[in-house]
Amino acid sequence: MADKFKAPRGTFDVLPEQSAQRRRLMRAAREIFGRAGYRNIVTPSFEDTALFERGVGKSTDIVRKEMFTFEDKGGRSLTLRPEGTAPICRAYVEHGMHTLPQPVKLAYSGPFFRHERPQAGRYRQFNQIGAEAIGSASPLADVEVISLLSDLLEEMGVPGVELHLGSLGSIEARAAYLEELKSHLRSRSDELSEDVRERIEINPLRAFDSDDSGTQAVMADAPHLLDHLDTADAEHFEEVKELLGAASVEFTIDPTLVRGLDYYTRTIFSFVCSELGAQSEIGGGGRYDGLIKQLGGPDTPAIGWAAGIERILLALDEEVELPGTDLFIAVGGKEQQAKAVALASELRHHGLSVEMDLAGRSMKGQLKQADRIRSANILVFEEDGTSSLRNSATNERQQVEPAQVLDLIRP
Ligand code: AMP
Repeated sequence: MADKFKAPRGTFDVLPEQSAQRRRLMRAAREIFGRAGYRNIVTPSFEDTALFERGVGKSTDIVRKEMFTFEDKGGRSLTLRPEGTAPICRAYVEHGMHTLPQPVKLAYSGPFFRHERPQAGRYRQFNQIGAEAIGSASPLADVEVISLLSDLLEEMGVPGVELHLGSLGSIEARAAYLEELKSHLRSRSDELSEDVRERIEINPLRAFDSDDSGTQAVMADAPHLLDHLDTADAEHFEEVKELLGAASVEFTIDPTLVRGLDYYTRTIFSFVCSELGAQSEIGGGGRYDGLIKQLGGPDTPAIGWAAGIERILLALDEEVELPGTDLFIAVGGKEQQAKAVALASELRHHGLSVEMDLAGRSMKGQLKQADRIRSANILVFEEDGTSSLRNSATNERQQVEPAQVLDLIRP
């Protein structure tokens, strides 16, 4: 026998019985985005590799080791998108969106790709949903964007969610603090994990995220960026906190919060969920006031987040039953098939869900199938040309003409 194929490591299939909850999430997101004026944007699944190198940052795990990069037939280096913000900023610049009224408010969802070690909640192809407000430096934008994700998780009923909030300050103001942090790390470099030690000079902040116990001990005594914000950054942070309170979004300040992408400035945030294991972050994001300029656009402040669709569904961990069908049409013989096809097609055009037998089942088998798909009504075209309609809930049965069915079963 030929070998059977399996989905590649770190990927998964979404089967029909798992898709109802996913659809509920997408519907909730569409409504929440729509109500706040965030409009959908779709970018390609792959981009020039240089976009991510420049946008996400060469010192990040994503760019250093997690990208699916390949050469096209013309020798160009392309990469399956590991995240959505750099591509959206590329589109903002490419389509001159800075000439539109600001901020430009965008929402997206789709597949992303990272060559990570697969485990529960961590995949190599996963789906994210996200929002970006590009072109506003106001703390109001921070609060609006954060509220979108808070509302979505609340609307979906995700249990055990906590919002962690921090600030990275602006790039210039952060520079002095980074020197202080580096010298702290250098002074105790023998206690650090190799990975952190190697990146003292290029990405010292990541040490806060390490799960190595030696590094954690060093970081327990490390200076915090929140104590070193300059006046403007500290004011921005204060306003964000105040306005989040006004919007009734609860949060805890996390002075050690950092994120895995280089482009963040000022506000950063992370929604974590106690129902998830090691991969406890459901979604997060922050300001990236320097990114658009870094990608060749005008100096443009912006803020956004991304949430893992699979993580949200894992946290919910409940299957939603697929809805039943409005009508199942059973046929007593081949002569009735044309009538059944015609009626099914007409009723579907009227928006009803209608199924019929496609597997050559006996009448008994067809009635059983109607039960299995929880059909609310069953129409039987008998061999003798008559037809009867049965309501599955009441078990009432009546002789009908096909033309009457629509009015009789329309919900
Ligand atoms: P990031 O783009 O790294 O800020 O991640 C945003 C969110 O995407 C995370 O909070 C996760 O919910 C989700 N996510 C990131 N990487 C993965 C992955 N490898 N598998 C599943 N979800 C992921």
